Amino acid sequence: MGMDSQTKALIVGRLEQMVGPRAVLHRYEDLVAYECDGYTIHKGVPSIVVFPKSTQEVSDVVRLLHQNRIPYLPRGAGTGLSGGATALNGEVVISLVRMNKLLDVDYANRKAVVQPGFVNLKLSNSIASKGYYYAPDPSSQAACTIGGNVAENAGGAHCLKYGVTTNHVIGLELVLPDGEIVRIGGVPDAPGYDLLGFLTGSEGTMGIVTEITVRILRKPQGVLTVLALYDEVNDASQAVSDIISAGIVPAALEMMDRTAIEAVESGNYPVGYPSDLGAVLIVEVDGIAAGLQEQIERVMEVCRKHRVREVRQSRDPQERTRWWANRKTAFGAMGTISPDYMVQDGVIPRSKLPEVLARIGEVSSKYGLRIANVFHAGDGNLHPLILYNSMEDGEKERAVRAGSEVLKVCADVGGSITGEHGVGIEKMEDMRFIFTEEEMNAQMQVRDVFNPDNLCNPGKVFPKPARCVELKRSAPLIHSS
Ligand SMILES: Cc1cc2nc3c(=O)[nH]c(=O)nc-3n(C[C@H](O)[C@H](O)[C@H](O)COP(=O)(O)OP(=O)(O)OC[C@H]3O[C@@H](n4cnc5c(N)ncnc54)[C@H](O)[C@@H]3O)c2cc1C
Repeated sequence: MGMDSQTKALIVGRLEQMVGPRAVLHRYEDLVAYECDGYTIHKGVPSIVVFPKSTQEVSDVVRLLHQNRIPYLPRGAGTGLSGGATALNGEVVISLVRMNKLLDVDYANRKAVVQPGFVNLKLSNSIASKGYYYAPDPSSQAACTIGGNVAENAGGAHCLKYGVTTNHVIGLELVLPDGEIVRIGGVPDAPGYDLLGFLTGSEGTMGIVTEITVRILRKPQGVLTVLALYDEVNDASQAVSDIISAGIVPAALEMMDRTAIEAVESGNYPVGYPSDLGAVLIVEVDGIAAGLQEQIERVMEVCRKHRVREVRQSRDPQERTRWWANRKTAFGAMGTISPDYMVQDGVIPRSKLPEVLARIGEVSSKYGLRIANVFHAGDGNLHPLILYNSMEDGEKERAVRAGSEVLKVCADVGGSITGEHGVGIEKMEDMRFIFTEEEMNAQMQVRDVFNPDNLCNPGKVFPKPARCVELKRSAPLIHSS
């Protein structure tokens, strides 16, 4: 799909006038690099990719596309795992990677202002020397952008204690789908509806975020980390549940099962875990130094109650860094044990971990595919990684069906189909596990207030035909303003 060649030539010409010829891609060989994000099951080559470098340029581009009824979508680093940044129907991609500046840091009021293409980890690195950091830490933080984090309401290992992106966004500048520039939030406890909360996690379907004000935090005085090795994944799951019910609030509580351990041990950051382990837990506590050792002792005590093989504190910061590097590169490490993998992202009540893991095991047997499990276990956020080989007939389709069935299991036990990766293209149909048709229609009506023509990231999040908002695409006219 996409535009006819004449319209495309006219639009490319107008975009080049707006942002400069070097900031517009329109040849197939350049566009194909943008055919998907981190979700590779579905692909679509955009008709144009444009790289604005200011809010005004984003607004000009959006206005042009809106006036000509041309669908488009925003894109950050393209690390999304649900297909949100994929131009399935040849949409124009508006890439925010040139808007990559740290605009302001206000230490006195503990906030920072960034452009949407600013890479997550760079924020913490930029303010570390003053003793501050930015808490949301997706494992992709060395690459993903804060604009993408806002769109997906990204989480991370340390979001258990500190909250996900929505808890750290205090102001947004947004280009609405007709090109109007608006500012939202910025004032503590502003009267009126919580639009910030509503826009954070809206997956690029409400407009394009062009500036973000975030909370920054003082680095904790102390951090202590424990590694617990288990023979049985069920014992590790029980320990997770008991740590939280003991009233301890770890900064992070992460788990990997046997298949995940096999992958990370063949990856770039092996720790040297024994090959017959059933599960590994990483538990971290942080805060004021007094009392931290006592907290970590309690954690270790709970771990010991569940037949732990070995539990110990990190000896030094280097060891802690090694444990985290190993955990945070778990997804990529799957490439060492499987030609392809699909990351799932469900949420369950923590107490259901043993039951859900058993059911994921059944799904794995049913479809004849290995499933590795990596979890932000403390908040019940599972990442089952379905391993498959796309060169084998039908395996990809089986992986997709297995993924959907895993999400059904999560929904059935009172959980959800997404913890942090969003719905995108991947989980549109799975929305039906959670919402009725009527509930989805109500949500689309809210979206339509911001995005009435559904030109901004169309065909995402909601299944068809929940309610098909047809694009009334008459022959595009090139407007001059
Ligand atoms: C190895 C790996 C590990 C990961 N670990 C985690 C993790 O621990 N936690 C987690 O939450 N996620 C994780 N992710 C997923 C991904 O990194 C996050 O969803 C991230 O927030 C996406 O940011 P991005 O800049 O790559 O956005 P993109 O992939 O480019 O876009 C994602 C969505 O945001 C929209 N979007 C992008 N920029 C804007 C903008 N400026 N305005 C409006 N909408 C916009 C896009 O249209 C799309 O719908 C991981 C991904 C990988 C590959």
